[in-house]
Amino acid sequence: MKIICIGRNYADHAKELNNPLPKKPMFFMKPQTSILSKNRPFFYPDFSKEIHYETEVVIRINRVGKHIEERFAHRYYTEIGLGIDFTARDLQRQCKAKGHPWEISKAFQHSAPLSDSFINKEDLPNDINFKLELNEEIVQTGNTKDMIFSVDKLISYVSQYFPLKIGDLIFTGTPAGVGEVKIGDNLKGYMEDKLMIDFRVK
Ligand code: ZN
Repeated sequence: MKIICIGRNYADHAKELNNPLPKKPMFFMKPQTSILSKNRPFFYPDFSKEIHYETEVVIRINRVGKHIEERFAHRYYTEIGLGIDFTARDLQRQCKAKGHPWEISKAFQHSAPLSDSFINKEDLPNDINFKLELNEEIVQTGNTKDMIFSVDKLISYVSQYFPLKIGDLIFTGTPAGVGEVKIGDNLKGYMEDKLMIDFRVK
């Protein structure tokens, strides 16, 4: 399986990082080894001094497909979860400055804490509220209606380049409010009122 992460899919987040609004979806990938499950602790890696959280709604693909038309894209997923796209912002800045690929800043081990439970989309509203609490304080809130590119558009676009397989995950982008984590922090992510992830940084 693969993890496809969408960048700059919320206008307010693109603005906070001084990035222009994309005309087409922008994405990158993380390997399976980036998943951190079961609310296990995240161990702060020694190669970075600036790890940022990015809270994202995650789509799990349930059918094989390529060149999927947008109007059929809804048939390719039923379950929605929540994840964190951890980013070593200091390394990312260095990679960008050199015009190098980002992988070391985005795809490192356990850079993708993921909820164990996924919710059937029938049991969620069309526009999903989600939020992150850092040490019991709300630091990020989002609603999927504010995505620049809808989930159906993302599935269609990504599948032009990469065939989608059962179990593939799409991290759909983060709203504004990204920031640093420190050792000892507790992160709690909610979708609507349901606690989806709850883990510590060690
Ligand atoms: Zn992200």
